[in-house]
Amino acid sequence: MNAPLELPPTALGPVARAGARGQSRLNVSFEFSPPKTEEAEENLWQAIRRLEPLNPEFVSVTYGAGGSTRERTHRTVVRMINETSLRPAAHLTCVEASRAEVDEVVQAYWDSGIRHIVALRGDPPGQIGGAYVPRTDGYLNGTELTAGIKAIAPFEVSVSLYPQIHPESPSIAHDIDVLKAKVDAGATRAITQFFFDVDGFLRFTDQVRKAGIDIPICAGIMPVTNFKGLRRMAEPCGIDIPFWLGNLFDGLDKDPDTRRLIACSVAAETCARLEEEGFSDFHFYTLNRADLVYAICRVLGVREAGAQGVLS
Ligand code: FAD
Repeated sequence: MNAPLELPPTALGPVARAGARGQSRLNVSFEFSPPKTEEAEENLWQAIRRLEPLNPEFVSVTYGAGGSTRERTHRTVVRMINETSLRPAAHLTCVEASRAEVDEVVQAYWDSGIRHIVALRGDPPGQIGGAYVPRTDGYLNGTELTAGIKAIAPFEVSVSLYPQIHPESPSIAHDIDVLKAKVDAGATRAITQFFFDVDGFLRFTDQVRKAGIDIPICAGIMPVTNFKGLRRMAEPCGIDIPFWLGNLFDGLDKDPDTRRLIACSVAAETCARLEEEGFSDFHFYTLNRADLVYAICRVLGVREAGAQGVLS
């Protein structure tokens, strides 16, 4: 085998620099959705098993609109507790449920050994971006839900953060005030919406830090393989899609293999740049597939527990 090529660090791009550093001390987490069918369940568990050895900080399971996945989310996180070494977090929303109903779900999680909840207000069912009408007997927003969860048991509570502000928010300052209120209510971590504007993300998180908020911020990373699908998902959430991303996918509608290679490359570069800026927490939206996220983790030096980088 050839001797390793010695290059000055400046000659390497961010991805190669990440590789050159060898095994990293990044904290990664993986988000999954509860499966709808037996086949989807099989695929999900293959993905979980593939990613488990990377020893993620936590894994999370989403909660469908209006509590539609209540049973499936519960079943999935409980199976994770019982059958894996993972530390699962259950997403929970306030949508179309009374406080008593939500509290019952929270208590059931605690009784099943779940110790981490991702507390969210949620969107009106079938209507991301539509007007949210809270129930009079329900939790009003993520702040109230966080306080409600903490009143039941000493859960770890993660909350949302929007680098391009929440679509209902009047300003960045308001979103930062909301995050502060959630921290005061007991939130211990923020997980961001996915984004593509890295400079904008850095400016935003700088403002969050300047406001005195010091909880970990996990950068939400979405490896994009389906550009049209991304547009449908991103627009109602107010997430800008840069023109260069469109160019990269242009003409590849019938070429999923190339799209996947591009997805991996874009996400790995985003993470490597953020790592150079001091970020160490990455939350991957897996869409219940392991291969891309596994490859990105390899690029970043996140390896199976006990594995050594060749040059580290
Ligand atoms: P909140 O932060 O509660 O904000 C909602 C509104 O209330 C805003 O207008 C805000 O300004 C206001 N508000 C909140 N707290 C205060 C306060 N203290 N004072 C004044 N105003 C306040 N959706 C799902 O349905 N299921 C999921 O599993 C899911 N997972 C997600 C995971 C992540 C990491 C993220 C970023 C989003 C997720 N979502 C999920 C989407 C989320 O439910 C929507 O974006 C929803 O519109 C807002 O929920 P939130 O908890 O961010 O809202």
